[in-house]
Amino acid sequence: MVDFKFITDDQWRKRLTEEEFRVLRQAGTEAPHVGEYTNTTTEGVYSCRACGSELFRSTEKFDSHCGWPSFFSPLAGDAVIEREDRSHGMIRTEVICATCESHLGHVFAGEGYDTPTDLRYCINSISLTLEEKPVS
Ligand SMILES: [Zn+2]
Repeated sequence: MVDFKFITDDQWRKRLTEEEFRVLRQAGTEAPHVGEYTNTTTEGVYSCRACGSELFRSTEKFDSHCGWPSFFSPLAGDAVIEREDRSHGMIRTEVICATCESHLGHVFAGEGYDTPTDLRYCINSISLTLEEKPVS
């Protein structure tokens, strides 16, 4: 099995497109409202586009109108890692894949969304791959 934490930038560039590399490996952000999964309601599981780990499910996806796919919870607590991000003059909580440490997006709390957690995992579409399948 590949240990994704030891893959070099050069190897990642071969595995990913330029835009995937910019978001996943350089903590970039895709433009709002253009990501392929922003308004997707298809039932299925969203995996990390870099390593394939299952991260989010359609059952926790909600319509936040923020321009990016939004989830109120990850599929499992240990699927993602949350860490403080002080870039761009803000204090935010970055969300990264626990398996390969690729950048997924950010999580925001207490915004008043009518969801079970009032958390918004704001995730770049380009960081995800949706596999259509029944989710129970
Ligand atoms: Zn990953």
